Amino acid sequence: MDAKLIENARITLEAERARVNAELSEEVEHPHVAHGAQTAAATEVTASQRDQQLRDREGVHLTHIEAALARVEAGTYGVCVTCGKAIAPERLEAIPWAPDCIECHARSRH
Ligand SMILES: [Zn+2]
Repeated sequence: MDAKLIENARITLEAERARVNAELSEEVEHPHVAHGAQTAAATEVTASQRDQQLRDREGVHLTHIEAALARVEAGTYGVCVTCGKAIAPERLEAIPWAPDCIECHARSRH
């Protein structure tokens, strides 16, 4: 695996981790609270549900980023965790936290 590619991936992964962490630690805003009490209550439920979904998704995303950074440290970055073959550099450039090669990824979706 190309050292430059790994270094670029590490920079991207660290930046992405910082972004997701910031997003997850952000205070939940309720911009509609100022309106009527009934409307505010209804809007708030919807907003916090949506917020929770986003947090869940970002939380999963974060574990993928952490796992990829761990593979960088371990020297196994760019190797498919399922079949052990090299992941295509184009795939890693598009998705630096991809844990598996495109073949295994496609297979796991069936
Ligand atoms: Zn694979």
